[in-house]
Amino acid sequence: MSVIEIAKLTRSYVMGEHTVHALKEVDLAIEEGEFVAIVGPSGSGKTTLMYILGCLDQPTSGSYRLCGHEIANLDDRALSRLRNREIGYVFQQYNLLPDLSVVDNIGLGLTYAGTPLAQRRAVGAELAGTLGLDHRVAHTPRELSGGQMQRVAIARGLSGRPHLILADEPTGNLDTKTGAEIMDVLRKLNTDGHTVVLVTHDPTVAALARRVVRIVDGVIVSDERSDAAPAKRESTRAAPTTAGRVTDADVLRIALHEGILAHKLRSFLTMLGIIFGIAAVIAMTAITEGGKERQLEQIRQIGMNNIQVRGLDLEGSRLMRLRRLSPNGVALSDLQAVTTYVPGIEAASAWKAIKAEVRLGDRAVDDANTLGVTGDFQSVVNFHVGKGRFLDARDEETFARVCVLGDGVAKRLGLEGDAWNATVILGDEPFTVVGVMAGKRFTESDIADVSIQDRNKDVYLPYSSLRTYFRKDERASRLDAISLRMDSDEHLLERSLAIKRIVGDLHNDAEDFAISVPLESLKQAQRTKEIFNVIIIVIAAISLIVGGIGIMNIMLATVTERTREIGIRRAVGASRRDILRQFLAEALLISLFGGLLGLALGLTAGFLIEALFGFAVAFNLWIMALATLTSMGIGVAFGLYPAWLAAHMNPVDALRN
Ligand code: ADP
Ligand code: MG
Repeated sequence: MSVIEIAKLTRSYVMGEHTVHALKEVDLAIEEGEFVAIVGPSGSGKTTLMYILGCLDQPTSGSYRLCGHEIANLDDRALSRLRNREIGYVFQQYNLLPDLSVVDNIGLGLTYAGTPLAQRRAVGAELAGTLGLDHRVAHTPRELSGGQMQRVAIARGLSGRPHLILADEPTGNLDTKTGAEIMDVLRKLNTDGHTVVLVTHDPTVAALARRVVRIVDGVIVSDERSDAAPAKRESTRAAPTTAGRVTDADVLRIALHEGILAHKLRSFLTMLGIIFGIAAVIAMTAITEGGKERQLEQIRQIGMNNIQVRGLDLEGSRLMRLRRLSPNGVALSDLQAVTTYVPGIEAASAWKAIKAEVRLGDRAVDDANTLGVTGDFQSVVNFHVGKGRFLDARDEETFARVCVLGDGVAKRLGLEGDAWNATVILGDEPFTVVGVMAGKRFTESDIADVSIQDRNKDVYLPYSSLRTYFRKDERASRLDAISLRMDSDEHLLERSLAIKRIVGDLHNDAEDFAISVPLESLKQAQRTKEIFNVIIIVIAAISLIVGGIGIMNIMLATVTERTREIGIRRAVGASRRDILRQFLAEALLISLFGGLLGLALGLTAGFLIEALFGFAVAFNLWIMALATLTSMGIGVAFGLYPAWLAAHMNPVDALRN
């Protein structure tokens, strides 16, 4: 059976208006085990013929059968497989990958057969030994002489145990002595049973072949055999160890080592767009989420359905003017009127704070928040007594000298267990402790927000007792706040307006009070946040698109820069799909690393903002996952076109590059 059968094969190049016929209706058959030299002047079509024999190029017309397969009928994948398994191609310019070591260069083709790395290296080391390169296995091509590089190239051609060795002027770049050594290697391969076809313009080299085919201007002009009997194939070709294709692990390894890590700074700069885009999203959403949680906490403390009437802090002439209209400020009369005339009030309470040191024996708490409270304080504020009892209506009526301590105050006074019947001194007045509040989890923050207070520091006494036993500032509002729990969250606004009218009337229209509806302000804040979210999304989208364009830009440059590498990989058996995967993996890794670095930067920025400015931040796992996935999506989307270009590059053009 013929290894090679060519019939009426033509290859023409169309160059603008001219057509160059590099090969004209060539017929040629080469049997298994032959050693053929193709000779001819420069430009006669030898390289063109070799590329076609190597399945790197397709004839314009005519037929080429390799090992019985009609090449024209095969798709890219089958052709790549043929190159990988049946052909070892040796180039005049060696065409080694400069960043790979000798063993890895030798094993390059095996990558595309799916052979595992360890096995590739074993084969590489063995072939290096056979070709006298034992002591050079870990070197890169840069550190080798021309003859050594050509030996590596031959070893690479042999790694897949091919039928056919194609060598295009393998000695063309070498001195005579080294050239002769390389010829010895090729002759030995032939006697071992490989079919060898070599191109040369050196008659002494040609003389070593068993058959010489002379080609001039694309036509075979002579075909002479010096030796009729081709060498018998004696080596038994081992079946390929793995029948597969390039593995995912290898694709990632190539993308990482030969793509990204080979140009660390450039890869990093390319990632920056993605890094900042993702970091901005993570940090900004952390702040908005944190704000939301904080606000919810505030509202939980004030009460979801509550409406509050607060006395305003007034000063100077404004205080004097308003007090003439409304001598008491917010007072119990307001509470009474409101609960009488406004429907839907479930519970009501009011309080007034004073500054008073709390003492017990030799212990003192000077930052307690002493409140005279009235009404349904516990249920309105949703904060309950833990031990003992809370203040009741009788205490209020009898101006009782009783108080309830916040958990923190009780602890600091050393009141543990059931010792709440102790008498503490509030300011200068003795009060009996009747209860201790349940401990309340309290979120500490550097920026004290007025609405969130540490309830564990509170001390409660009846409002009437506060009015009776403590010095009064006559101009101050009688109450700090009236808090009303409504029966539902509907009509909150209408009712707050009704309350405003009633209190306003009682105060002779003095604007010495304010009404707050926490739920309404929450809704308002959320609307603002939605706008903010849209802005974040727009910023993120812009920076991710810019990042994506950066990736595309660098990938296009990479593909151009690595044209020859692409050609080499195709020559040893990479299919279009393999090349596509390699460059897509590179784009994906850049964007993934960018995304992960962006995530890290965003988290760092979030924590820094919390630490430095006291904003509450909350990180959302979903947003982080989404951000990472988006960045990967960007990599694929923007890497696809450059990868497609790389994959569809003509291998021959890539090699001539
Ligand atoms: P050789 O290897 O014998 O020196 P080649 O096969 O390289 O010759 O070239 C044969 C002819 O085809 C030459 O005239 C060359 O200019 C032409 N040729 C080769 N490749 C191309 C190409 N890609 N485009 C146009 N012309 C080409
Ligand atoms: Mg040539």
